[in-house]
Amino acid sequence: MAGLYIHIPFCKQACYYCDFHFSTNQSQRRELIELIAREIALQRQYLNANPLDTIYWGGGTPSMLTAFELDLLVDAIHKNFSIVMHPEVTLEANPDDLSPEKLALLKTVGINRLSIGIQSFDDNILKFLNRAHRTSEAIQCIHQARKAGFDNISIDLIYSIPGQDDALLNKNLATALALNPEHISAYSLTVEEKTVFGRWASQGKLTAMAEDVSAQQFLLVMDTLGLHGYDHYEISNYCRPGFESKHNTSYWQQKPYLGVGPSAHSFDSVSRQCNVSNNYHYASALRENRLPFDREVLTPANKINEYIFTSLRTRPGCNLQHLKTTLKYDLIDQNRAYIEMLVESKHMELKDNSLVLTRSGKLLADQISSDLFVILEK
Ligand code: SF4
Repeated sequence: MAGLYIHIPFCKQACYYCDFHFSTNQSQRRELIELIAREIALQRQYLNANPLDTIYWGGGTPSMLTAFELDLLVDAIHKNFSIVMHPEVTLEANPDDLSPEKLALLKTVGINRLSIGIQSFDDNILKFLNRAHRTSEAIQCIHQARKAGFDNISIDLIYSIPGQDDALLNKNLATALALNPEHISAYSLTVEEKTVFGRWASQGKLTAMAEDVSAQQFLLVMDTLGLHGYDHYEISNYCRPGFESKHNTSYWQQKPYLGVGPSAHSFDSVSRQCNVSNNYHYASALRENRLPFDREVLTPANKINEYIFTSLRTRPGCNLQHLKTTLKYDLIDQNRAYIEMLVESKHMELKDNSLVLTRSGKLLADQISSDLFVILEK
């Protein structure tokens, strides 16, 4: 089994916090979509004939696509890959795109899971983030998606936003819970350098939330969603039982996937490759049937570190047997004193031969992973 990721690099407007690859210039959109279809054909061997069990339309804003553009890409996928009987097919959507007509169209092209970029249910915060939608559209689109027959809906929320205090975060969570989505992704706002927020921060116009306040908000989200029956199955992801994102889970389980479109990543167990993050250079290469990616062959240390980093963020944790048998690495032997200290201080537990972070350990996930990393050879 394998996954396919399709990156649609266009957005209506730039959210001030976003450092994903996208362009607000739509003038070359049709041609670029055609070139992504071409890339799909050129990459048909990448997955070694493994059938697709997950397809993920991300971006950018794939919910902007027209019927013609969606059909073009869906045709290319079906012509070049085999697909299992009941694949998970997710599309990232913005509320302002999800009219009843668009929802019906998405159903007809086989989308069976929506990941909706809500971010906040407060209009002032949405304006501050420069989102293109307002709260009323966010709530309405979920009701309309239900009417259109979508029974697997994920929503994205952001916490640690300057100006979004605990009371407002609680209100957002209550609104989210009342809508009963199957899945919630909750991300802490990070101020990235090459964004509007990054510029404001460097000019002293924006101060990121203090780390301890941000950590409290993480706990608030985790505890509230846990209390309402959501499984915290990955550090930023919560779901009703059985509604884990299969696509993202396969990333964390190091299963192979192909990413197409500018900036998309691919993984084939041996190497990772990353397409150029520039629509112009992407198009220039594809017009000449060239694939515009950089490839990195993973060393044993890369593989061990990637496994430690991703697995510690997940509910099952870091499986010591997998590390020993597949990656030939004895994590306990190499870090006995440190791991004993983490267990003693109740940041980590040993369950079924796996190291699992506790509630307090999740606050330190990045630090703990990097402390456990194998030093990379130069
Ligand atoms: S819509 Fe999504 S991808 Fe586009 S700018 Fe906003 S956050 Fe980034």
